[in-house]
Amino acid sequence: ELVFGHQKPDTDAIVAAKAFSYLQNEIGFDTEAVALGEANAETKFAFDHFGEELPRVIKTAANEVKSVMLVDHNEAPQSVSDIADVEVTHVVDHHRIADFATAGPVWYTARPVGCTSTIILDLFTENDIEVPAKLAGLMASAIISDTLLLKSPTTTDFDVNALETLAKIAGIDANSYGMDLLKAGTDLDSKSDLELVDGDAKTFEL
Ligand code: MN
Ligand code: MN
Repeated sequence: ELVFGHQKPDTDAIVAAKAFSYLQNEIGFDTEAVALGEANAETKFAFDHFGEELPRVIKTAANEVKSVMLVDHNEAPQSVSDIADVEVTHVVDHHRIADFATAGPVWYTARPVGCTSTIILDLFTENDIEVPAKLAGLMASAIISDTLLLKSPTTTDFDVNALETLAKIAGIDANSYGMDLLKAGTDLDSKSDLELVDGDAKTFEL
């Protein structure tokens, strides 16, 4: 099975896929984390920093697998282009649930917290699986990114506690590393006007 986040992936979309895939493989599934677009500068900084390889990018899923797992999104317009042709078996998400239906039963974990990686840390704990140090660093990066270092209005106590736990496992100072990470993501020189405006856009059907 393939595990992926939304199109125009942010750090959480890519990291949550990697973390959830790791967890599912530990539980006994056979999954691979992939991405629905190139990683942005912030995400690349995080993967460089912790010496991890970025997931490969896919355009379609049905040519490879029959079923998929979604993280950090659930709405079809934000997902893989041929989402209608595959079965969704798992979703882990912190966004509104809209336009979502499956033919069969589904593992669905939705929580109104600041970051999907915050939810996934709880899933590791529930399943009694340890988070490897490098992965913890990536998950901390996702929380820092989604919550702007715990400053965004979407930040919850769950995110604060998760970041503290993950930073300890990764052996990083969340504040100083977090500033470096967010700075890496705001390198405007490397982007065109359109990329700046469109970079963090999500697709909605109204
Ligand atoms: Mn996201
Ligand atoms: Mn997110």
